[in-house]
Amino acid sequence: MSLTDLVAVPEGINVLADGRRLQNAKQATMLALLGSPRADLNQDCQAVATPSLKALMVTSSVGPFRVTGLRPAVESLRAIMADIAAEQPAVYRALGSAGMLCVRYVRGSRTAISNHAWGTAIDLTIGGILDPYGDGKVQRGLVDIYPIFNRHEWFWGAAFSKEDGMHFEVSDGLIRSWLASGRFGSGLNPPETFLLSLGDRGDEVRYVQEALNLHEAGLLVDGIFGRETQAAIFRFQAREAIRLTGLVDGDTWSRVHVLRRDGGLKVLYADAAAPAVAQAKITPANKKAQAKPT
Ligand SMILES: [Zn+2]
Repeated sequence: MSLTDLVAVPEGINVLADGRRLQNAKQATMLALLGSPRADLNQDCQAVATPSLKALMVTSSVGPFRVTGLRPAVESLRAIMADIAAEQPAVYRALGSAGMLCVRYVRGSRTAISNHAWGTAIDLTIGGILDPYGDGKVQRGLVDIYPIFNRHEWFWGAAFSKEDGMHFEVSDGLIRSWLASGRFGSGLNPPETFLLSLGDRGDEVRYVQEALNLHEAGLLVDGIFGRETQAAIFRFQAREAIRLTGLVDGDTWSRVHVLRRDGGLKVLYADAAAPAVAQAKITPANKKAQAKPT
C-alpha cells in the first residue's frame, strides 16, 4: 500500500469535532472581505493586481515547501504542516505543493473565481504526484492528513461536486474569524452566512438546484451556481413574489426548504431559517449527502 494509492473519499469529511460543518469560502464572502484580485480574469494563472490585496500577500516557507499566499492563510498552513510532521511523518516527507496563489477562474468556469486567486487555497502533491481531478477517488496520503486540515478549519476539496482531492482551502468560517480579529482592517461587513451567489459551488448549490428542478427548471444538478441557476432563481423569486435578487438570500433559502418538503425531497439544514447553514448540525441524512463524491 502506497501513499499515492487511490481510495474512496471517506464519509463525514469537512466536519468539526463539535459537529459543525465546514463550508468552502463563498465567493460573496471573499469579494466582500478582500475584493476582486484583478479586473480581467481568465483560465490562466495571473498575478494579483489589486494593491490592497497585494499588500496582504507573503512568500514564506511553511515547512516542506515555500508558498505565496494570504498572510493569515500562510501562517495557518505552517501550523497545519507542523501537526502533519508530528502526526503523519511519512506523508509529511512526501508532501509537495502544486501552488497556492494563482488568480484565475475555477477550471471550466467563467463565473466562479478560484479561492487560489486570494491565496487561501493550496494544491498538494504526494511523492510529486497530483491526485487525479474529478475521478471521485483520492490518494491515501490525503486521507491521512485531511482531519488535520479540517481541525484547523480548512475545507477539503474532495467534497466538491467535481472531486478535487489535491485541494484544501480556508473555510468560510475561518476567513470570517480573521475579519473579526481585525486581520483585514476594520469597517468591513461580511455578507450573511447563508448567502449563495453566482460563482458559488458545493452541496448547498446542489440542494437549491434539486429544489428548482421540481418546477421543471431543467438545471444540471452540478453544484455550480452558474447563469442558468441564477436565471432559475429569478423565475422562482418572481413566482413566489419575493424580492428579485438572483441570489439565494434569506427569503429564497427558506422557501427552497418548503419547496423541497412539498416535493418530497429530503430537507437538510434543519435550522435553515437563520444564518444556520454554517452551524448546521450533522444528521445522518446530510452527512451522507456531504460525503458523496459526484
Ligand atoms: Zn486547488
